[in-house]
Amino acid sequence: MPLTDAEASLVAQAARLAREQITPNAARWERERRIGHEALAAAAALGLTRLQVPAAAGGLDLSFSCKAQVAEALAAGDFGFTMSWINTHNVAAKLARDAAPALAARYLPDLIAGRRLGCTALTEPGAGSDFAAIGTRATRLDGGWRIDGAKAWITNAAEADVIVLYAQTEPGSGGRGIAGFLVDGRRAGFVRESAFALGGQHTIGTGGFRLEGYVAGDDELLHPPGQAFRAALGSINGARTYIAAMCCGMVGEALRVVQQYGRQRQAFGQPLAGHQGWRWRLAEAASELAACRLMVAQAAALIDAGRNAERETQLAAAQAKLLATRMADRQLPALAQAMGAEGLREQHPFARHLAGARVAGFVDGSTEMLLERICAALPV
Ligand SMILES: Cc1cc2nc3c(=O)[nH]c(=O)nc-3n(C[C@H](O)[C@H](O)[C@H](O)COP(=O)(O)OP(=O)(O)OC[C@H]3O[C@@H](n4cnc5c(N)ncnc54)[C@H](O)[C@@H]3O)c2cc1C
Repeated sequence: MPLTDAEASLVAQAARLAREQITPNAARWERERRIGHEALAAAAALGLTRLQVPAAAGGLDLSFSCKAQVAEALAAGDFGFTMSWINTHNVAAKLARDAAPALAARYLPDLIAGRRLGCTALTEPGAGSDFAAIGTRATRLDGGWRIDGAKAWITNAAEADVIVLYAQTEPGSGGRGIAGFLVDGRRAGFVRESAFALGGQHTIGTGGFRLEGYVAGDDELLHPPGQAFRAALGSINGARTYIAAMCCGMVGEALRVVQQYGRQRQAFGQPLAGHQGWRWRLAEAASELAACRLMVAQAAALIDAGRNAERETQLAAAQAKLLATRMADRQLPALAQAMGAEGLREQHPFARHLAGARVAGFVDGSTEMLLERICAALPV
């Protein structure tokens, strides 16, 4: 869907944020193993934390196509930063859409201002791809629910305390018994674990937490049993599409850096770009990138057209993520190779972006789950 002037301007501002505040700092955030708060505050000031929040709740109410393009622009700077931003944004948008107005009003101002981070917790130590198998238990109390269990591998979990959490109300019932709650990480019964020590991408703030006798009020039930499984999967096409866009952002930035370097680095009496064998590598990357961008645009247009629930959209989103993650996995090392040893320097994005591409292969549906989804959605 073509962007409005206001949307195009926001995408340009996001690209500037990436250039001026994310790219120059991402390697340091990674070294310090932390979320990029400074740039998150700047993103909030631009309105990015309320991009798809309805206008009635103080949001910008912009299109999904705009969100995908902003995600691409920010991920050019850092995949992990973009994950952190988009997960807070998503919690704000969900509360504005699905929570009772009083509950939304309690958290929205802080989320939108970037003062509190949000996260969405499905995955557990014992259940990842098989979401219906989660063991976190919600037990009915008078006026609310008691929640016990553990979540793991959650974006922003190192710090987030506005949490959309899925729990099982009826063990053995699979997806049918799953309910969705708003959990406040500042309340008794919420126990945060240390952020995970990983091989990279610490700007995502990945970690886990436990619920030990945590009590959620009835007003904090976002999706009752029977509706939560579908609600959680209702946002999956969008998530797959923006992860694909983020892969395009990383490859686009790597390509830009290599092009620039190839014009000035001399070898055998001419710039690297003068060697046919060297520049063909760039042509390969640029062509795959162009195809993946079209796939992202197609999936985003279907979502904007209100066709999220249709098989065509499931297929378009799953295929966009499948091919964009594969492109990033393949092209980022190829582009790094074109830089020679120079590409290993921390100031360049190759190793960081490659770690981002590895994460992209798991979040919001692993490559294998996408292949299953694509099989199921193929036209008969
Ligand atoms: C950095 C990071 C951030 C994350 N953020 C979040 C978040 O914010 N919220 C959240 O809820 N989760 C989050 N996740 C978790 C992510 O959604 C899971 O990693 C994903 O669902 C896969 O689950 P798993 O890693 O437990 O793999 P498993 O389910 O254990 O699978 C292991 C491998 O087997 C494959 N596999 C599994 N079942 C099958 C099958 N039937 N057929 C063929 N292959 C199969 C998988 O594709 C995978 O390759 C995050 C993960 C990472 C790495």
